[in-house]
Amino acid sequence: MKGEYAFCPKSGAPLSEERHYDERGRPARHPVGERHDGTTRPDGELTGGALRSSRVALFNHFRNCHRRAREPDEELYSRAGVELLRLKRTASGRAEWDLFVWYALAERLSRTGWDVEWMGSDVEPRCPDCAGDLRYESGIDGEVFGYCAVDCTGSGADRLAEIRDRVADLYRRAFADAERIDADGLRLL
Ligand SMILES: [Zn+2]
Repeated sequence: MKGEYAFCPKSGAPLSEERHYDERGRPARHPVGERHDGTTRPDGELTGGALRSSRVALFNHFRNCHRRAREPDEELYSRAGVELLRLKRTASGRAEWDLFVWYALAERLSRTGWDVEWMGSDVEPRCPDCAGDLRYESGIDGEVFGYCAVDCTGSGADRLAEIRDRVADLYRRAFADAERIDADGLRLL
C-alpha cells in the first residue's frame, strides 16, 4: 500500500517514520524490523510502499497489524495465509492492488466467523484509476460518496461504488464455493 498505510512491498515490514529523498526528490522510507527498539534500523532498500505487494508482504503486514493491539492468534494467521493464497492466485491486473485484496480478505474472514473489523483501520480506499486520494461527500440519507480528488477521468463518478464492485468481483472469483455476495453487501466497505 502507499501513503499513510504504506509498508515494504517485499517483506511487509513497517516503514520508518523518517523519510529520505531519492535523486528525483521523491520521499521514500526504510523498512524497519517489527521488534525494533525505537530507533530506525535500516535493513532494507528505500521504498514508498507499492500498490501491489507480494503475498508474503501482505501476510506479514496482516500479522503485524493484528498483533499491534491484540493477542497473537496463530489459527487466524494460518487461515489468512490460505485465503491470501487464493486471492493472489485469482487477482490479476488492477484487481491485484493491495487495497482490493485487503478488503476481499477482510470480507472472507468476516464471513467465515472471524472478528476482523480492525482491518478497516489499516487501509484507505483510493481512486481505482489514478490511486490518488478520495474526496468524500455525504448524501441526504447519510450515504457516503467518494470522488477522485483530482477527478482524473473527468467522469465525476462515485469511486467508492467502483471499489466495492471490484472487491465483490475479486471475492466471487477467488471463493467460487462461498455464498454469493454483491457489492452492496460488503461488511467493511
Ligand atoms: Zn483518480
